Amino acid sequence: MTVTAATQVLAVIGDPVSHSLSPLMHNGWIADHGLDAVYVALPLGGADPVSALRALKRFGLRGANVTVPHKEAGARAADRSESDVANVLRWEEDGSVSAFNTDGLGFLDCLSEQAPDWRGRTSRVLMLGAGGAARAIATALSPFVDTIHFANRTPERGEAAALSLPNGRALRWDELERGFGAADLIVQATTLGMEGQPQMEWPVANCRTGAIIADIVYRPLHTPLLAAARARRLATADGLGMLIHQGARSFDLWFGIKPDAAKARARLLAALGETP
Ligand code: NAP
Repeated sequence: MTVTAATQVLAVIGDPVSHSLSPLMHNGWIADHGLDAVYVALPLGGADPVSALRALKRFGLRGANVTVPHKEAGARAADRSESDVANVLRWEEDGSVSAFNTDGLGFLDCLSEQAPDWRGRTSRVLMLGAGGAARAIATALSPFVDTIHFANRTPERGEAAALSLPNGRALRWDELERGFGAADLIVQATTLGMEGQPQMEWPVANCRTGAIIADIVYRPLHTPLLAAARARRLATADGLGMLIHQGARSFDLWFGIKPDAAKARARLLAALGETP
């Protein structure tokens, strides 16, 4: 495509963003639909990201994704936000900016794709982590399940996340073996297992035979947790699925178009050097 003065600009804003897969994903969909738009990666370092994002509002982008560590700043910088943690910004016709969070529903879309019968099989959820992604996913899951137990390295954050939901509970980090044994769905939403981050020996041997294991880390795609779950023939959902579906919901918010998730998966697997 030719970039002209009329081309609409979208971006992923975070720190770091140089390894983000979002430009490849969104530019693929932009080309699929023949849109006059381009999606770039904007690193935002330094202090006061809220002021930087407020200044960016005046440049009239079409939309943006906000990623680690700026999701709270994104919600605060917008003129209105559906959540206190945002991953999507949309510039409206009057110049104002709206903020959304598509992480939770993107996770549910991924689960429905990769473990289609999860609704009938899930009453007890174990959420590993209590950061922004864990809380967004738990909020989306909450209406469909009986209990969500948060196990978090820093117990106060786990307890606060549990208190924010009517069916939230806290589980101590040293009670993971019991938690794994009791859960129908386990969601790994910490940074553990990511490239360059510490690993963890998860007690997968304790899982029930019908348990579903989801890991939202996607670098590497086959995390040690997913590998252990597959070795036990448990149903799994990977982090690339969540990335694609939160992105698809972002694209729909900006353009009113539901893009092709399967096409994006093929492109991203190729970029990661994985076979479909
Ligand atoms: P965050 O808000 O910074 O939360 C990080 C979480 O990881 C916290 O619960 C933290 O526990 C825990 N953690 C960090 N280091 C740990 C360690 N050494 N041992 C135990 N727990 C540790 O980050 P986030 O935005 O929620 O993202 C979490 C992960 O999800 C990242 O890997 C991110 O790349 C991934 N993610 C994937 C998608 C996707 O689309 N697939 C979307 C969003 C996020 P403490 O509270 O104790 O610090």
